[in-house]
Amino acid sequence: MNDTAPKMTGPELDIDKVRSDFPILQRTVHGKPLVYFDTAASAQRPLPVIEAVDNFYRNHNANIHRGVHTLSQEATDHHEQARAKVAGFINAPSDQEIVFTRGATESINLVAYSFLRPRLQPGDEILITWMEHHSNIVPWQFLCEETGASLKVVPMNQRGELEMDALADMLTERVKLLGVVQVSNALGTVNPVAEICAMARKKEIPVLVDGAQATPHQAVDVQALGCDFYCFSGHKMYGPTGIGVLWGRYEHLQAMTPYQGGGEMIRHVTFEKSEFNDAPGKFEAGTPNIAGAIGLGAAVDYLQGLGMDKVAAWEARLLAYGTERLAQVEGFRMIGTAANKAGVMSFVLGDIHANDVGTLVDLHGVAIRTGHHCAMPVVQYFGLPATARASLGIYNTMEEIDTLAEALEKTNAMF
Ligand code: PLP
Repeated sequence: MNDTAPKMTGPELDIDKVRSDFPILQRTVHGKPLVYFDTAASAQRPLPVIEAVDNFYRNHNANIHRGVHTLSQEATDHHEQARAKVAGFINAPSDQEIVFTRGATESINLVAYSFLRPRLQPGDEILITWMEHHSNIVPWQFLCEETGASLKVVPMNQRGELEMDALADMLTERVKLLGVVQVSNALGTVNPVAEICAMARKKEIPVLVDGAQATPHQAVDVQALGCDFYCFSGHKMYGPTGIGVLWGRYEHLQAMTPYQGGGEMIRHVTFEKSEFNDAPGKFEAGTPNIAGAIGLGAAVDYLQGLGMDKVAAWEARLLAYGTERLAQVEGFRMIGTAANKAGVMSFVLGDIHANDVGTLVDLHGVAIRTGHHCAMPVVQYFGLPATARASLGIYNTMEEIDTLAEALEKTNAMF
């Protein structure tokens, strides 16, 4: 565990210490202190992550896995330690089940092309849910076009919760994979993924869980979830951009063929034929994002230093406060009111367009996201062109929620 990670002083996050770890929170926007409510799009980075990347480039930079010289061996050690840290973070049985990718999107595409495509026949089905991010929709559409399989969508209700009875009915023998998001980036819904995996497992249907919005906010245990694949992105959990993870059961990974060829993923090459490495190497063609992986390892250390239970508890308090406080703003309507929610508050403000809301609160230093949040079917479901979204991170405070509420009130006053 990283020595520089803030220690807990009590049952709660030491929020002042946490905030002091994020240098960007010192800056101002339009002359106001930055209030960052866009963590679901990309989190800010704490010093230990910035320093880990900096330290790598200053002191250990070299290509990995193929050098006998000291720097290459050091770089390899740091890279592989990061893999082990990530494995521990999600309780993977082995670090050989951790494939480094560019992010959740690439991880899903890897499963689509290497795992599912060879298994699909015309008439087969791929099952996803209504609240998936485009990254968990579009790769499957490509496969359906290529193979004659069809994409089926589990409906949700007006609160933004999955219709579990419909899901049970849709898990037929035609389904060759179920893709489900653990925490919706557009609604904040936390899906009952362990229960869903158990339902699918009874029918021997493999499940891919999109954990991009889960790993920053709650402890994840892929063995307890019972899924077959799990993916996430470094930049949403306080790590660098350009690095992400696919976890898969080793028997799946070993049975899959690589979908990119190149250096390092091979064992032996002749012009006639090449033999591939075992997983995870065979999926990591070319020079990987070495500094990114090391930075992700530092992010894991940082979050574990805080304690994921405390992270989840702090964000739950923020969400409860935000839900109540923002409801007092005239015209505020929350989109996504599931009983089990994580720190995402999507909303509309009267009939003011979400982009105008985002632009106007930015003048108060408040960064929120507006649009379809790469989940167009969700906003379409609610009959909206767009929503505004305030998403929470470990550094947010109740006072910042007040600032957002006041900025929304001032926005109202302008229309
Ligand atoms: N899945 C979910 C739920 C997301 O929120 C996101 C990003 O917003 C992604 C997948 C894609 O992540 P990335 O763009 O890092 O690959």
